[in-house]
Amino acid sequence: MDIIRGILIGRMQPIHNGHIQVIKKILDDVDEIIIGIGSAQASHEIKNPFTAGERVVMVKKALVENNIDPGSYYIIPMEDINFNSIWPAHVKMMTPPFSKVYSGNPLVKQLFKEEGYIVEQPPLYDRKILSGTEIRRRILEDDDWEKYVPQGTIETIQEINGVERIKNLAKKEISEK
Ligand code: NAD
Repeated sequence: MDIIRGILIGRMQPIHNGHIQVIKKILDDVDEIIIGIGSAQASHEIKNPFTAGERVVMVKKALVENNIDPGSYYIIPMEDINFNSIWPAHVKMMTPPFSKVYSGNPLVKQLFKEEGYIVEQPPLYDRKILSGTEIRRRILEDDDWEKYVPQGTIETIQEINGVERIKNLAKKEISEK
């Protein structure tokens, strides 16, 4: 029997409970999921504070704590490239073969549809709070954020002094304006 694989690509800056719910939902549908850590080259920016390696750790810990079978996923950092039209080929080159693409991002959906992939938009869970932008805002403003992310995200952010990093990056962007 052929293995059915799906891919979800996200910046995961940081991985939050919405990503986890969507990963579980995709795994109801496919045998294996490829989790692409998007914009892998980016870090130490207010919109992309964490390195690809730090995000791999967060994602791995989050999947383990959610008892997701380690045989059912791949976590693959994926750098951006300058040419949108050949980005799906770049993704294909970097990953195990997949037939389904899951994304809520209009550009990602468009690019993969044009290449003939089955593209599905998973439901969005509590998007007002469960978004990377909102979680980063909460971290920056000392608002409640921990309950919206997996324990592994909290631990990793603590280990790397991530709260301080985000606050310093925000200062830097203000002083550079
Ligand atoms: P993201 O982390 O915001 O979201 C990833 C996916 O997670 C979404 O599509 C959505 O399906 C899901 N998700 C997020 N919040 C959710 C919630 N609350 N409930 C349920 N599901 C939720 O990442 P993104 O910005 O969509 O990532 C796309 C990546 O692809 C980026 O890194 C982008 O740079 C990359 N990309 C690169 C190129 C290129 O290199 N030319 C082109 C297109 C896209």
